[in-house]
Amino acid sequence: MNKGKICISICAETAKDLFAQIKRAEDLADVIEIRFDCLRPNELDNSYSKFVELWEMHEKIPLISTFRTKEQGGFRELTQEERDDFWNSGNEIGWADCEEDIFEDSWYWLWENRICSYHDFNGLPHNLFEIYERVKATDADIIKIAVQANDITDTIPLWKLLEKGLIDKEKAKSRKPKKFNYSLKLRFLNFLSGDSLKLQKYMPNLVQEIIPIAMGESGKWTRILGLAHGAFMTYASLDEGKETAPGQVSTKDLIDVYRAKELDETTEIYGILGSNTSVSMSPYIHNAAFKFHNLNAVFVPLQTHNLDEFMRRMVKPETREIELNFKGFSVTIPHKQTIIKHLDYLDETAKKIGAVNTVKIIDGKLHGYNTDAKGFIEPLLSSYGDVQNAKVAILGAGGAARACIYALQSAGADVTIFARDLAKAKSLAEDFEVELRELTKTDFKDFDILVNATPLGMKGKAEGETPVFAEQLKGLHLVYDLVYVPFQTRLMKEADKAEIPKIGGMAMLIAQAIEQQKIWTGLDAPMKEMSAEVLKRLG
Ligand code: NAP
Repeated sequence: MNKGKICISICAETAKDLFAQIKRAEDLADVIEIRFDCLRPNELDNSYSKFVELWEMHEKIPLISTFRTKEQGGFRELTQEERDDFWNSGNEIGWADCEEDIFEDSWYWLWENRICSYHDFNGLPHNLFEIYERVKATDADIIKIAVQANDITDTIPLWKLLEKGLIDKEKAKSRKPKKFNYSLKLRFLNFLSGDSLKLQKYMPNLVQEIIPIAMGESGKWTRILGLAHGAFMTYASLDEGKETAPGQVSTKDLIDVYRAKELDETTEIYGILGSNTSVSMSPYIHNAAFKFHNLNAVFVPLQTHNLDEFMRRMVKPETREIELNFKGFSVTIPHKQTIIKHLDYLDETAKKIGAVNTVKIIDGKLHGYNTDAKGFIEPLLSSYGDVQNAKVAILGAGGAARACIYALQSAGADVTIFARDLAKAKSLAEDFEVELRELTKTDFKDFDILVNATPLGMKGKAEGETPVFAEQLKGLHLVYDLVYVPFQTRLMKEADKAEIPKIGGMAMLIAQAIEQQKIWTGLDAPMKEMSAEVLKRLG
């Protein structure tokens, strides 16, 4: 259990909705942030007319007032006059989160806790540490720095900033104890003297907390692991789809799935490496297993575009710049083959397949495995029976296709690959000595089983698409779609139309994850709990 706080950030257009959301957030959050910039201008006055009600709420749970400009991530354009009015309204309730430019001008000393925040929604500023020193030089109680991580290695400086913030905090704590409350007295002096008095010069003992946030999917892990490593607070949305900043996790997921408040610096970290981790079900599946066995381990999204840089700067003991307790990875598109060159050991099955979907880290060494093959064949055998001599058409020639061909050949099936780009697929066909055909509008009446190993139909750009239609499926005995989001793909609907039995990708997803859990923890994974988590999400 760590000491960090979860803050639910609430964005509502009307005062009525705002109060309703605060009521719902009370039971889940440690702190609630009210994004006053979300309210329509007339509703802003309306909410402040319920000042007493807000005070009563603040008695139960700390409330943060935020009124942010569009450039700082606010939800509507604000004039300077509106900002001045807001921050000097005399309605100071609880905590305030204010940007640097307005910090000293407002009646800041009246607030109970003051956050000074900096946001960059475009990327990682080159002068991040200068910005930190500038924000720190205000007399804010809490320093919040949020920058966009466009790739995972952009999170490194942010993480180092957390380390620096904690060192500075310890230094401030160890200085001579204060005889009286400098902060309050000097805040009052500041009020009397206007801008002229720069408080920070007189407040060397101010102990400031830090909240570093890497925004975006690549930065999501910092929101999940920050509390375990000393960040004062992490921000979460009340509901999924109601995020107030990129990469925010819902509070329920932060608490129930990632167990963010139960983690500590010794927590073992696992994660999914891929170029789009936002659609992955793996965090739900693997965290359900860790939770079931009550392990001090967590599984986080690690969205990575440049795998080489991730390995060099964040993983390899000899070159990494930050220390995270990585114990293993699940690997997905497009890194299943390119990861091989980074491994210290390659399992025999993974070598034959030529693709790795699982990495276990033992004493800093990376061991690669492939659980897709077993995960693929198990549901097929239990649904179809023996596949000895069965004629199987595989659509696609990527990493998943490799694992399927290996598993099918090992079980005695006769495989043909169908690919859109024959030149690209040639080496796969040669590696496994299988026939290669072009993926066209052909029918599959000479085949028993059709396997879709392309991303067509997957949530995102390809959702609703299908590699083949009902009329092409006639004569087949089974259609197996590896795509698992959505639960019912367009191809599966085409199979229904053609009245052909089908299997969706979910069965394989769970089966291969169970194998991954065995590799990582040596334990039998709880299939029921893992499946339930996915079904909850996919309906
Ligand atoms: P991958 O390595 O990127 O390979 C994708 C293959 O699909 C490539 O051959 C690609 O052809 C082909 N393809 C892509 N778009 C296409 C299109 N519009 N029309 C025809 N072919 C197209 O991906 P992967 O790792 O093999 O994964 C493939 C699918 O299987 C994904 O949807 C993935 O989610 C799913 N999968 C599911 C599980 C599970 O547990 N259920 C496990 C692994 C994978 P080009 O080479 O020409 O681009």
